[in-house]
Amino acid sequence: MSIFSKLWSAISGKGKSNGEEMPSEPSDRYTVPDDKALWVFVRCKKCGEKIKLRIRTTDEVQEAEPEDGFEYYVNKTIVGNKCFNRIEASFFFDAKYRLINSDLYNGELITEKEFIEGTD
Ligand SMILES: [Zn+2]
Repeated sequence: MSIFSKLWSAISGKGKSNGEEMPSEPSDRYTVPDDKALWVFVRCKKCGEKIKLRIRTTDEVQEAEPEDGFEYYVNKTIVGNKCFNRIEASFFFDAKYRLINSDLYNGELITEKEFIEGTD
């Protein structure tokens, strides 16, 4: 399964809640909206550190060209606390700041659930 289709099912598959879930329960979301920002979760490919990253939608995202197929994007270099590996990440969003694709070098995108669970 490609990262894109994984993302797509994460975005489109969230309508099946039974109403009993706690709203704050960690989910399979790749992004968590905050006031004027989005949280994304990445894992360092070198040391496995999980890093939570805040992207300010007010001034960090850039507008895409009409032919790009997405509305906004952001390029980030992320360095964790456990090693000096530089994770180069690009995130692509639609007009409502929903993550539609990502491209990571030296790291990988993980879900909120993966970020919270299994912490050493
Ligand atoms: Zn690392």
